Amino acid sequence: MINDKIWDSHDDELIFDSFNRPIISIRISLTNGCNFDCIYCHHDGMLLSESEMNSDEIYRILKVAKKLGVKKVRFSGGEPLLRNDIVEIIGKTSSLKFKDISITTNGVLLDKYGVDLIDAGLNRVNVSLDTLNPNTYKFITKRNCLDRVKSGILHVASLGLYPIKINMVVMSNLNDNEICDMFKFCEDNGLILQLIELMRSDHDGLYDEYHFDIGSLEEKFEKLAYKVKVRRFMQDRKKYYIGDGEVEIVKPMDNTKFCKNCSRIRITPEGFIKPCLLKNNNLIDIIGPIRNNLPENELEKIFLEGINNREPYYMI
Ligand code: SAM
Repeated sequence: MINDKIWDSHDDELIFDSFNRPIISIRISLTNGCNFDCIYCHHDGMLLSESEMNSDEIYRILKVAKKLGVKKVRFSGGEPLLRNDIVEIIGKTSSLKFKDISITTNGVLLDKYGVDLIDAGLNRVNVSLDTLNPNTYKFITKRNCLDRVKSGILHVASLGLYPIKINMVVMSNLNDNEICDMFKFCEDNGLILQLIELMRSDHDGLYDEYHFDIGSLEEKFEKLAYKVKVRRFMQDRKKYYIGDGEVEIVKPMDNTKFCKNCSRIRITPEGFIKPCLLKNNNLIDIIGPIRNNLPENELEKIFLEGINNREPYYMI
């Protein structure tokens, strides 16, 4: 097994929280809005319903993050491609010279925006695709657009965007029998499969009905893989290299590992720092100070307060 290398040894400006975890990436939820209605959605970032940040405000937060040593940016939502200024947001972010800019999307608008996003500086994309079966797709997302999503993925792949990751939330008796097919689809098209364990959400009974123990796959993959990598500062995820494909396992419910090596800080669409994915009661307002024109050094202090508020969820 080898460990993942996530920053260069000459990087001296990394920032650490009080549990000695480096803050490598910032994840910005751009909007509460979504054009899908997935059965399991945990509605990341959907806590308040104030106005969304505009592209200049997002830029100011990112400028502070970059100055303090954050390396990577990911935009999520809601559905980030619903923002009609998404290309402008990527362009402004790109001017800050982060090591990596990525988006997590349901993929339905990738055919429309792919070229412009890449031209603006997008480096990577994760697309949520839980199934290749149109009926299951419709059941999970309540939308009838599997073919459009697949062609959007292949479109950005043909434009050279790499790596493209496919996020598959594995659910018992729903899509757990499709893992091999999904792996083959990814292997054939140069995509990386990311298997995600279902998290509890506010949908009654869903977790109990569909939760699949994703850890049960590890032994099988271990036997099949010619190489296994531990992505230490990506919450200790394991990546298996099998044949010409790659598959990663994400276990957000395994708090000890997920939290121990979490290196991510989050921002809600309204501009609040969210120190932890799993906790909602320690948000820090950075948008108010931005709108009150506080200088950058004051914004840095607020950002640092957000980092200091980070605690592993298993300790709470
Ligand atoms: N709209 C975008 C999309 O569909 O990818 C971005 C937002 S979505 C909330 C981000 C990711 O969270 C998706 O890959 C989705 O599969 C995952 N997700 C949402 N709810 C989840 C849950 N209850 N358990 C595990 N993963 C979940």
